[in-house]
Amino acid sequence: MFTDEYFMKIALKEAEIAFDKDEVPIGCVVVCNDRVIAKSHNLTETLNDVTAHAEMQAITAAANFLGGKYLINCTLYVTLEPCVMCSGALSWSQISKVVIGARDEQRGFINKNLSLHPKTEIVTGIMEHECSTIVKEFFKSKR
Ligand SMILES: [Zn+2]
Repeated sequence: MFTDEYFMKIALKEAEIAFDKDEVPIGCVVVCNDRVIAKSHNLTETLNDVTAHAEMQAITAAANFLGGKYLINCTLYVTLEPCVMCSGALSWSQISKVVIGARDEQRGFINKNLSLHPKTEIVTGIMEHECSTIVKEFFKSKR
């Protein structure tokens, strides 16, 4: 059975890959008709690119896969609440649903009173504990 937890687990695996690369551990997947069509993790250090957030790469990869710029009938699963840049990109993509693991009170788009595309459904708190723990562990290891 394909549940939100099922796909969030795959996103979390991506976050673990980022962790092993010494990247801030955030991962995401894009799902279309119960099929993963894109997965990615944060690569800002590896690519020396502040825009290389997991979501930005997944949006590009999913659009390439679909052969169209709009991610209609797609769901993005991301371990941490998207930032303002990524929420803007998600809004442009007209993605149908965004599922968020942990909230990011400081840098996330929700507290900035931003919303995504009017048609985009937003779900938060899926595997919240696991998704926030990996980020906390990462920054703890940096101190
Ligand atoms: Zn972002």
